[in-house]
Amino acid sequence: MASKDISYDVLIIGQGAAAYAAALYAARYQIKPIIFGATFGGETATGGSIENYPGISEIDGFDLMMRFREQAESNDVPIVDENIVSAARMEDCFQVITESGDLYQGASVILAVGRERRKLGLENETEWMGRGVSFCATCDAPMHRGNTVGIVGGGDAAVKGAVLLSKYADQVYIIYRGDRFTRPEAMNIRQLEERTNLHTIFNTNVVGLEGTDGLEGVVLDREFNGSRQIKLAGIFIEIGADPRVELANQLGVKLNDTDEVMVDKHGATSVDGVFAAGDLTDAAGDLKQTITAAAGGALAATAAYEYVSEHGNRCGVHAMGYALV
Ligand SMILES: Cc1cc2nc3c(=O)[nH]c(=O)nc-3n(C[C@H](O)[C@H](O)[C@H](O)COP(=O)(O)OP(=O)(O)OC[C@H]3O[C@@H](n4cnc5c(N)ncnc54)[C@H](O)[C@@H]3O)c2cc1C
Repeated sequence: MASKDISYDVLIIGQGAAAYAAALYAARYQIKPIIFGATFGGETATGGSIENYPGISEIDGFDLMMRFREQAESNDVPIVDENIVSAARMEDCFQVITESGDLYQGASVILAVGRERRKLGLENETEWMGRGVSFCATCDAPMHRGNTVGIVGGGDAAVKGAVLLSKYADQVYIIYRGDRFTRPEAMNIRQLEERTNLHTIFNTNVVGLEGTDGLEGVVLDREFNGSRQIKLAGIFIEIGADPRVELANQLGVKLNDTDEVMVDKHGATSVDGVFAAGDLTDAAGDLKQTITAAAGGALAATAAYEYVSEHGNRCGVHAMGYALV
């Protein structure tokens, strides 16, 4: 049971793979963690089938995250199903406030709030995630063997995603609003040009998604091969993602030039006592996946454990119920 009247050793913000893994490791180090997050399971829980988590050949992301959560709960980690709206350091102690205004305190913080995928803003775009609409080519390409699919975007992720998709799908259309690729690495553009089943549609936007209970095609804002409609079994939207940095900014943590929280190899940020893990961070480069998020969570919990062991919990009343100061 979560309690506002005690201070925790580590306040873990987020309810995805990175947060659950951090909580599990923290609990096993016998420090006192607590998790906050309004949305169970993060992106993994809504991403459909997971086929690249080692040891499990195929599992629905929701079920995988349910296992993560149950494992944290069976190690007595309290979970508060509310988002954190503010975080601050008060001398040697961190304080966070939930959406309903409850205040919790802890000796350290792990930020694991992930990223917000950029969307096209089309009807059914979110509803059909896992039913033809995907935001992750690395994740979902193997589900499109023999299909005709599209990918929207003109950055490195889109071009790399298109090349990957072309190894599974029969035909791939990369749809980009610009008139040429300027941002992707030259090697990736060359690979794209070499794929005979990959077709580029420049100067074009996707303006509608068609289908009844899932994607069957897209509508373009100009004609391609004499039609504004293309029949597709899948559309991949690779137009970027924005790290959720509000809390990191409140805590004064350093970000890189793409707004990712910068962490060292242990998951430590630029602010003492603040650690970070998962897709929010620069730790795994472009490989933002469930396994790298979980690994980041384990590392951050280890670093938080070492931090708390060295500095103690100076929040006043310790989680175990005794005063440290
Ligand atoms: C469609 C799709 C399919 C995918 N498929 C795969 C796949 O097949 N294999 C794979 O390995 N990876 C896949 N991924 C990537 C994988 O899901 C992510 O890399 C992983 O979820 C990152 O975990 P995370 O814990 O860092 O962040 P997230 O999973 O994004 O979790 C962040 C959590 O923080 C919470 N949060 C946000 N703000 C606050 C706040 N203020 N207070 C508290 N909590 C907050 C969120 O609600 C969420 O619960 C897929 C992603 C998508 C979008």
